[in-house]
Amino acid sequence: MNYGIVGFGTAGYHAVKAIREYDKTGRIVVYGNTGKAPYNPMLTTYYAYGKLTYKGMFPFGDLASIQKELDFTYKKEQVKKVHAGSMTVETEEGSERYDKLLISTGARAFAPPVKGLLPENALLMRTVEDAERFKERLGKKDVKSAIVIGASMVGIKVAEVLHKNGVETWLIDLAKCIFPLAAYPEVAAAIEERVEKQGLHLKFGATIDHMKVENGQQTAVLTDAAKIPADLVVLCIGTRAAVETVQGEVEIKRGIVVDDRLETSVKDIYAAGDCCEGKNLESGETQIIGLWANANRQGRAAGINMAGGDARFEGNILHNITHFMNMDFIGFGDNRIQGEVLECGSLEEGLYIRLVLQEGRIAGANIMDSYQISGIIKNYMLRLFSGERAVLPDYQRGMLIKAGLPAEFIDRIEEKING
Ligand SMILES: Cc1cc2nc3c(=O)[nH]c(=O)nc-3n(C[C@H](O)[C@H](O)[C@H](O)COP(=O)(O)OP(=O)(O)OC[C@H]3O[C@@H](n4cnc5c(N)ncnc54)[C@H](O)[C@@H]3O)c2cc1C
Repeated sequence: MNYGIVGFGTAGYHAVKAIREYDKTGRIVVYGNTGKAPYNPMLTTYYAYGKLTYKGMFPFGDLASIQKELDFTYKKEQVKKVHAGSMTVETEEGSERYDKLLISTGARAFAPPVKGLLPENALLMRTVEDAERFKERLGKKDVKSAIVIGASMVGIKVAEVLHKNGVETWLIDLAKCIFPLAAYPEVAAAIEERVEKQGLHLKFGATIDHMKVENGQQTAVLTDAAKIPADLVVLCIGTRAAVETVQGEVEIKRGIVVDDRLETSVKDIYAAGDCCEGKNLESGETQIIGLWANANRQGRAAGINMAGGDARFEGNILHNITHFMNMDFIGFGDNRIQGEVLECGSLEEGLYIRLVLQEGRIAGANIMDSYQISGIIKNYMLRLFSGERAVLPDYQRGMLIKAGLPAEFIDRIEEKING
């Protein structure tokens, strides 16, 4: 059997690992455009900050040792096109046939051009190379002021690194508040207050219109005409799934559409990780849910299926867990859905939880400063979405109480859900 893996991030790695568990002798060819072992993009800001070594960004070790362990051929080549008809992968070097193929090309940071922004003063944040550029620039000590565009989980981490390096930093977004896709307005307001108290500047409802030099200083002119000095601009606006290798070959919406076996619309071509759309268990629609754990589980399930096994990835819900500026924020589900609100704790400090209930389910949850309870809450939400019984097992109830949730609050949730 000839297996092809296009893109070697965590999804590709987990697929290769699973294939080798099920098929000891098949030929696996991995096409990677980095020449490196898979890295964890979540760790890039920690490296830039100096909290992590370069090696620390590579959770599975170096390429040579992974190759030794899993026995595959690594081709440092950019895949240009997959031809489903002839079952071939095309690179600059030529074409090679596959029997089973995985597309695990991930996503790329996306940013529209900003007029007047000099390339040396613009940064993206996704790859190891982005992290190296960021670290190098900070090392020069010539950045006194900076703007981060995009009040997302990535944006806040980048802003934190700049702020902790003594840079006067503005986090700006066209949206009305921080974490617009995950936080409820009340929670967003509390987070904003906390980060501003620590010295980070925030501005919403505006973005950079253009850059100009004013009194010898690189200056951002915003869409509302405000001016902010900015030696550096970091663009954390969003990502785009990398789907061009299979454009016109398989069904693609925002990402490559897969079923719960991770197979695309074309037999024997699978997709996993940030390049694909799996099922959102809340909406029932397919959607890209770009998470590290998703990519791992999808890659593994795809690998098992490619090697003749039968594995399913049932889907996930929208999900954010972020630690930044001495706080934890956790957001689950769709924050646009309105419903009955149950809340407990204080937004000023310590444990806080806000649940929005709709039709006997938890449509969304925000949790502050207690990531310990997040797994139980997410698991409970998932069980409700799958129609399972709505009672928390005793040990989970005990863990919630131990973490600080009053028993009466847990009773109220169960009462509301069970009617
Ligand atoms: C700054 C940051 C913070 C994050 N924080 C979190 C977090 O807190 N929690 C969380 O769960 N997730 C987080 N994520 C998301 C998480 O990192 C991703 O979901 C996960 O890494 C996706 O893995 P992947 O294997 O699908 O893609 P990737 O890691 O993008 O790997 C894809 C690989 O394919 C290669 N490739 C692409 N095209 C080709 C081609 N044509 N030919 C050959 N190779 C190709 C790419 O170069 C890359 O090496 C964060 C991401 C970033 C950037």
